Amino acid sequence: MNATVKSARVKIGRRFAGRRALITGGASGIGFATAARIIAEGGDVAVIDLDPEALRRSREALKLQFAERCDVRYAGEIEGAVETAARALGGSIDFLVNAAGIYRIKAVLDLAPDEWDDVFAVNLRGTYLASRAVGRRMIETGTGGSIVNLSSIAALVADAQEPAAHYNASKAGVIALTKQMAVEWAPHRIRVNAVCPGLINTPMLRMMDNPETGAAYVENFVPLRRLGSADEVASTIAFLLSDEAAYITAVAIPIDGGLTAC
Ligand code: NAD
Repeated sequence: MNATVKSARVKIGRRFAGRRALITGGASGIGFATAARIIAEGGDVAVIDLDPEALRRSREALKLQFAERCDVRYAGEIEGAVETAARALGGSIDFLVNAAGIYRIKAVLDLAPDEWDDVFAVNLRGTYLASRAVGRRMIETGTGGSIVNLSSIAALVADAQEPAAHYNASKAGVIALTKQMAVEWAPHRIRVNAVCPGLINTPMLRMMDNPETGAAYVENFVPLRRLGSADEVASTIAFLLSDEAAYITAVAIPIDGGLTAC
C-alpha cells in the first residue's frame, strides 16, 4: 500500500483521540450513532438523554463512562449535567452535539399554544441551554471547541402531508442560533455548525410515518430513492466536529438525498 494513503487512513481512523464530546439525546438514533462514531475514532463520550431505558442500553453498548438522565428544557439540569460530564471526561469538553429533539405533527389551526411551547422548549431552548453551558466552559478554559446542532430540512421547506409548523419553526431557530453563536464565539476558537437531515431511519421517523405512504413518498420525492441512515448523518457531524472542518463555521448542511433540491 502507498505510504501516504496508509498514513492518511490511520489519521482519519483516530481523528478524535484524546478529545471529549458531550451529546444531548445521545441514547437513540442520530445522537447514538454519533457517539459510536466518535468512540470508534478514539474519542471519549458523555451522553445525556431523557429516556432512562435507552440510556441504560447505550451505556452498555458503548461502555460509556457517563450516561445520565437530563432534561434539556431546564437550565439547572443542563448546567449540573455539563459540570459532572466534564469531570467524568477528565476536565474539559471539546465537542458538543445537540441531538435531543421531539417531532409532533399538527396543522397550525389545531395547534395549541402549549404544544408549540413544548416543541420549542426541547428543540430550540434545549439547544440554547446546552450550548450556553458548554460554550461558557470552552471560553473559560480557553480550549476552543466545536459544536454541531441538529436542525432539519423542515427548517428549509414546508410539508403539506405532515404539517408541523412548531417543529419547522423551532428548527429554523436552531439555524439562526447556530449562526449567531458561531460569530460570537469565533474569537474563542469555537466553531458552531448545524446539519439539516432529511428522512432518516431512526425511532423518530418510524414513529411518525405510515410505512406505505412513507415508502411511496421516498420513491417519488427523494432523488436518491431511499431513507438516510443515522450513521450517514453521524459521518457529517463527525466531519464538522473534526479538524478537517477547521475553516467551516456558521453553516447548515442538508443531508437529505437531494430532497430539498426538488
Ligand atoms: P430519536 O427520537 O431517535 O432521538 C432523540 C433523542 O432525544 C431521544 O433519545 C430522546 O429521549 C431525546 N430527548 C427528547 N426530549 C429530550 C429532552 N427534553 N431532554 C433530553 N433528551 C431528550 O430521534 P433522531 O431521529 O435521532 O433525532 C435526533 C435529532 O435529529 C432531533 O433533533 C431531530 O429533530 C433531528 N432530525 C431527525 C430527523 C429524522 O428523520 N430522524 C430529520 C431531521 C432532523
